[in-house]
Amino acid sequence: MSLFKNTLSQIDKAAELMNLDPKVGSILRNPERIIEVSLPVKMDDGTLRIFRGMRVQHNSARGPYKGGIRYHPNVDIDEVKALATWMTMKCSVVNIPLGGGKGGVIVNPKELSQAELERLTREFTRHISPFIGPEKDVPAPDVYTNPQIMAWIMDEYSKLQGKNIAGVVTGKPLAVGGSEGRADATSQGGIFVLQEYLKENSEKIGGKSVVVQGFGNAGSHVAHILHDAGFKVIAVSDSKGALYCKDGLQPKKALNCKAEQGKVSECLMAGQSCSMITNEELLTLECDVLILSAMENQIHEGNAEAVNAKVIVELANGPITPQADDILSAKGVDVIPDILANAGGVTVSYFELVQNKMNYYWSSKEVHEKLKEKMCDAWRNVSINAKKYNCSYRVAAFITAMKRLEKAIKTRRG
Ligand code: GLU
Repeated sequence: MSLFKNTLSQIDKAAELMNLDPKVGSILRNPERIIEVSLPVKMDDGTLRIFRGMRVQHNSARGPYKGGIRYHPNVDIDEVKALATWMTMKCSVVNIPLGGGKGGVIVNPKELSQAELERLTREFTRHISPFIGPEKDVPAPDVYTNPQIMAWIMDEYSKLQGKNIAGVVTGKPLAVGGSEGRADATSQGGIFVLQEYLKENSEKIGGKSVVVQGFGNAGSHVAHILHDAGFKVIAVSDSKGALYCKDGLQPKKALNCKAEQGKVSECLMAGQSCSMITNEELLTLECDVLILSAMENQIHEGNAEAVNAKVIVELANGPITPQADDILSAKGVDVIPDILANAGGVTVSYFELVQNKMNYYWSSKEVHEKLKEKMCDAWRNVSINAKKYNCSYRVAAFITAMKRLEKAIKTRRG
């Protein structure tokens, strides 16, 4: 299955409904530039390994390309094209002046030492350095990349340029120009949108039980912020399995336990009725809110019918296939789509860029307030378009994004 084809079908669906100029449609269906590089890296044992790296620059009509770099053994160009396209849409939905890009390196970072990971990252930076920069293309963390990796990219790029250029990447550690609030921005942004959704749909969603798929950066933060806000988190999972506690669990305890034991499913909480279940079982648990914060294509034709949630929040990119979208919509399950739900990450990345440019830094309270304003505005626009065009939130989010993109493309091209 091609993820990029799924993305194109989402574009086409929205384009038809909003009557998008076909010329703009064809621009948005084609990434502007695709860079593929070969990365020779010296391993700790003295051998040489060649890795493949890629960067897709999808669209820059509204500003410099923006988007993460993922390190994953299965990443490929089709996936990165899809992710880059979603970044263009995402930045436009939240109305920040940036375009869309995405990068990837085919590697399992868990198999590399820190020194090997650093050499690989610096090699990749040298290869893509002519194409990135604060005014060209600004990478950030994504799956299996983190603030330390961003610091290496910033350091290598700055050395090549002969001056300090903090704004070449975002998601940096606070010590080298990162922003307050970036670490949990994706989760926090998704929660702001969920809360707005719940205000509008209180008759549909009475309870507050939550299931979270994925326990990486987004999943672990969302679980504990929702728990602190009074939601009952009944299940969490990682790639190895899931933990289900019908009376609710404590996400912070689960996170500490996962750090010690390696698997969240084995973190059975004393005194609570918990059990180990599979990831597949987790997706069909009865709950009010299902949060998808793992990988793509998790809900598909084969399991969508069995979903028992009232609303799904896509904190990961592309976790629901277009076929599953149709099944869920026929069942009356609302989906808060990725390009809106997880846009908090890139929004605080944008704030980081702004702060780097000013060389003046905001408090976490200021970042939190600014993020809330952006996410609530984005929600309002998407919700209005969903009613106006009588469509799903996903199609409405694409329409919201593509209207702004159409305006920018037409204004620039005359
Ligand atoms: N990788 C994140 C995403 O998919 C963040 C991108 C960024 O901050 O540029 O939205």
